[in-house]
Amino acid sequence: MPEPILLDGTATAKTIRDEVATRVRVLKEQHGVTTGLAAVLVGDNPASVTYVRMKRKACERAGIASLSREFSSSATQEEIMAAIEELNADPSVSGILVQHPLAKGMDEFAVLAAVSPHKDVDGIGRGSLGDLVKGDAEFVACTPAGMVELMDRYNLPIAGKHAVVIGRSVILGKPMALLLLNRNATVTICHSKTENLADITRQADILVAAVGRPEMITGDMLKPGCVVLDAGYNRVPGRDKDVGDCHFESCAAVASAITPVPGGVGPMTIATLLANTVKAAEARMAREASGKG
Ligand code: NAP
Repeated sequence: MPEPILLDGTATAKTIRDEVATRVRVLKEQHGVTTGLAAVLVGDNPASVTYVRMKRKACERAGIASLSREFSSSATQEEIMAAIEELNADPSVSGILVQHPLAKGMDEFAVLAAVSPHKDVDGIGRGSLGDLVKGDAEFVACTPAGMVELMDRYNLPIAGKHAVVIGRSVILGKPMALLLLNRNATVTICHSKTENLADITRQADILVAAVGRPEMITGDMLKPGCVVLDAGYNRVPGRDKDVGDCHFESCAAVASAITPVPGGVGPMTIATLLANTVKAAEARMAREASGKG
């Protein structure tokens, strides 16, 4: 097989962040509109704290105002939902991100449902998920939306292709499958109870790995020439870099295009969050201009 196209998420995300920065500046300079992202963080889960910090930095670089509402893990669901209501009503907040996981015992989907659909830039509230099923979601979960955007930026066709998505989480596998279906792929979803996984993955023109198991997909499980999107991000003791769900070398030897880990899907997630946030600010301005605000 010839060398595969390396789907460079780092470079593509940079292009998207630059585009976002321009749109944010236009909103500010031509319309006096500030774009803002609010993060709601509950507890001190180190990964969540790191994600929120990374998102804050990315916002700053794109000219997006960022604020956070931080709660201890003993906060009640009602307190969190009251804070979300305040953010819903705050005109300086274009988008709201509720960092998950929330504290133990909280009903994550009830909390997410409190976010206004116009500010659900993470795309996993009930309304956004329902709209995704209908095929007209304003905001789609950032990792799946980022993967499809990456394919589009490399002009990789989706319609008519057989896409196999491994993983069915609400934030990743399921919305990815729906996005691909809405783009007229024929979609198969696999999960931990799937039998004969390799027989299915070998039929994939587009293989999406969203599992969380280091290097479980190997080149012999792929159809030659397929496109591989690896959302996995796994820390392995003794390895200096995180590894994906796909064994990169053996998969790259068979695929026509593949995302590296790191530097593939990961950077696209934050870029998509920023793009969704400026989209929310633009949409609000358009609603207000048409008297529907
Ligand atoms: P998750 O909620 O744990 O879901 C994992 C999915 O994989 C489940 O649907 C599970 O099936 C399935 N699975 C587990 N073992 C399997 C097996 N042996 N064969 C087939 N399917 C199997 O994980 P997630 O939140 O979707 O995340 C998945 C991966 O993506 C993780 O590595 C995570 O770190 C990464 N991630 C990356 C980003 C990013 O920005 N790059 C964002 C989010 C997540 P069941 O449903 O049957 O249990």
